[in-house]
Amino acid sequence: MKKRWHWNERTRLVLTLELAVVLPAAALIIFSVRHLRSIQRDRQVEAAIQRDFYQVLAIADKHMSEKAHEMVDQVRREFPPASAACPESLDRLLERHPYAAHLFFYNPDRGMVFRSQRARMHEPDFCTESAELEKMTAGEMKVDYDWIVKKFQEMDSKGKPPMFCEANTVRRGDRRGYESIAFFRLPQASGEEATIGGMVFDAEYLRDRFFPDMLLSLISRNLAETPSDQNGRGHAVMMLHIKGESYPLAKSAEWDGGAPEVERNLEGAFPGLTLAIKLQGTTLASLGQHFAHTSFLVLGGLSLFLAGGILLTYRNVMKEMALARLKSDFVSNVSHELRTPLSLIRLYAETLEMGRLSSREKYQEYYCIIRKESERLTALINNILDFSRIEAGGKEYDFRETDIGELAHNTLESYRYQIEQHGFAFEEDISGELPSIRIDREAIARSLINLVNNALKYSQNEKYLGVKLYRDNGSVKLEVIDHGIGIPPGEQQKIFDKFYRVGDPLVHNTKGSGLGLSLVRHIVRAHGGEVSVESAPGQGSKFIIALPLSGGASGDNATSA
Ligand code: ADP
Repeated sequence: MKKRWHWNERTRLVLTLELAVVLPAAALIIFSVRHLRSIQRDRQVEAAIQRDFYQVLAIADKHMSEKAHEMVDQVRREFPPASAACPESLDRLLERHPYAAHLFFYNPDRGMVFRSQRARMHEPDFCTESAELEKMTAGEMKVDYDWIVKKFQEMDSKGKPPMFCEANTVRRGDRRGYESIAFFRLPQASGEEATIGGMVFDAEYLRDRFFPDMLLSLISRNLAETPSDQNGRGHAVMMLHIKGESYPLAKSAEWDGGAPEVERNLEGAFPGLTLAIKLQGTTLASLGQHFAHTSFLVLGGLSLFLAGGILLTYRNVMKEMALARLKSDFVSNVSHELRTPLSLIRLYAETLEMGRLSSREKYQEYYCIIRKESERLTALINNILDFSRIEAGGKEYDFRETDIGELAHNTLESYRYQIEQHGFAFEEDISGELPSIRIDREAIARSLINLVNNALKYSQNEKYLGVKLYRDNGSVKLEVIDHGIGIPPGEQQKIFDKFYRVGDPLVHNTKGSGLGLSLVRHIVRAHGGEVSVESAPGQGSKFIIALPLSGGASGDNATSA
């Protein structure tokens, strides 16, 4: 015989608690701890990236300056000595170094010599630039000559090359271009006054070649390891703009606009420029936001789960409490039910024992009462035994091919006397064309007795009992009808729960244990059928047992519930 696992209320409660409360709560705690750790880690990562960016920008500034100084130095080394320098020699130097747009030198003896790339003088913007620069540098040299010479001497004493740069912006259509003017000291013959040389970087060369090349090499050299997500977003990109302007002068290939993460005003060879760096397609803040967003979602989900669990547990606990209340009612009901027939039996048995009864009919009547009361006791004890077997998961059914019409008729016959004695009008309508079905005779008979007993118990003024048995499509239906007190709609499902009794004073005054209908439902379900009720308060009730024709048991004759 198979022993099926029985889910009692306790196991269910413990399981619900574990699944619905303990598990989500544990998940919530683990998630929160990990979340806190990852927040910490992410903060560290964010700070590390920022530090990295500052460092990269400082390195970039240094690299660009070094490179620019090298280029200026090359020109400086090829510069003709001040005494021999002439416009033509500057033109030749310019031809050799196309990245220089203009060259000049100045000393108080020779004054200012300023030359620009000949080949570009036909461009109006360039021509204007040349004229303006010549005027500007000439003026500057006159005013600042002594100061610049002194500055070079200071640089010498500090061991630095005598060279510095100034920013200049030029017009290019409706935009502004940028160029850097490098000032340096030319070799000086003894007794000669110091000569200041100058080279102006070509704005187009800087914009189109120098800066893009520098950005590319900087990114590939320093930022290859910045973290990027699976879509390739998030790696570092750079941009260079004139200080105070947001329009990029030069940018790395994947620069996608938006606010830079970190900026640095360049100090070396390119003053007046700002170098900016950011993550492509995102920002550090939005990376953090995305993380916070997912965390909130997960936390929200887990909290909902937990709230659901708590609600479920609360409902379960309430159910358990109601059940505990019902159980204590049950104990007092059952003791009462047991005591009444027992004291009746004792009373009548004692009277019989004394032998003082006058007539034979009286004896007969007392015997009958004792029999009926003991039958009531048996029915009650059977119900309790069945119930305890079901609760323990050990109730067995013995399914056999049965003529259900004959079974119902015989069961009712043994009750007929009692029914009629209670003054009930009794109608029995059993269809003659019923197929035999596989049922447990005793269990089905007990179900019928329970329903009939209820009909008798819960009828007051109109005493009617009808029992119908008929075939309805694929099932056999057994109906027990009364015209009694009826059941309010809100109670009609609950009455099938164990120990449940309607809280009506009429019901309260009637003996009962609250087990009958729960047993009926259990038995019927074990047969693969269903029991239902149609009722209206004050108008009576109709209980319908539907049993499938194919039978509830398959295979073994005996099945445990
Ligand atoms: P009890 O031992 O209390 O009769 P049952 O499980 O048989 O236990 O029935 C549960 C409750 O359903 C009853 O207490 C009663 O309130 C209600 N009930 C059952 N049958 C009827 C009926 N025929 N008419 C009215 N109420 C009924």
